[in-house]
Amino acid sequence: MSTKTETGTGGWRGFAIDGDLHSCWLCQRSVAAKALRCSRCGAVQPFHELNHFALFGLEQRFDLDLETLDRNHASARRTLDPERLGIKNPKAGALAYRYTEAMANAYETLRHPVSRARYLLTLLDAEAQANGESPPSLPDPDGDRDRDRDSDHGGLAHRPDIDALAHAVANATDCPTVDRLGAQAVRDMESCIHALSTAFRAGRIGEARLVLAHLDRLEALSAAARQRRLELCPPRPTGRSTGEP
Ligand SMILES: [Zn+2]
Repeated sequence: MSTKTETGTGGWRGFAIDGDLHSCWLCQRSVAAKALRCSRCGAVQPFHELNHFALFGLEQRFDLDLETLDRNHASARRTLDPERLGIKNPKAGALAYRYTEAMANAYETLRHPVSRARYLLTLLDAEAQANGESPPSLPDPDGDRDRDRDSDHGGLAHRPDIDALAHAVANATDCPTVDRLGAQAVRDMESCIHALSTAFRAGRIGEARLVLAHLDRLEALSAAARQRRLELCPPRPTGRSTGEP
């Protein structure tokens, strides 16, 4: 995969170099259609939709370097500060505001692996559709495994049954039990995120979809465990630490 858009060391600049050329609305010089800013005068260009990865100059993939994402986000926020830009030129401020809004949403989505995976699958589906292909279907975890020897479907067959865990959470009668079940859900979520990474790296999109569906259920289970804990052992009003993270 190409890494030419990765801004791992130089930080975010918002200058795209490929694509058609437009005229900068401020200095009239040529500027790439995909650029957020004019490379000559630095003016923020009219808003155009970019995918979340492109907004931060990052390669589109699941395994993101979060430090680079954080750095590019901070750098973009400084560069595109609508208030500061708007003092000099109201149009620049308004354009910057559109981008900072889009970036806030993109940052939240990319920062967390579950939402990042969901977003990446949406992009891949859209790409497949644009190329006239049908999106990869869900593999059948109970189906013919011999067809797909390279994959164990993210190891889902070896994971504990979520229905049984949910039942155990709902019927837990003491805090240690609900804590143990909650911790198990968190551990399983972590291992699912590793499985997602493996599936995306190998291009097994159907498998990534299956692991993501499993993760969604684990998140719900984890929330149910937290709720059950509140019911069984309400926090004390003294504000003393309960050992919760
Ligand atoms: Zn310009």
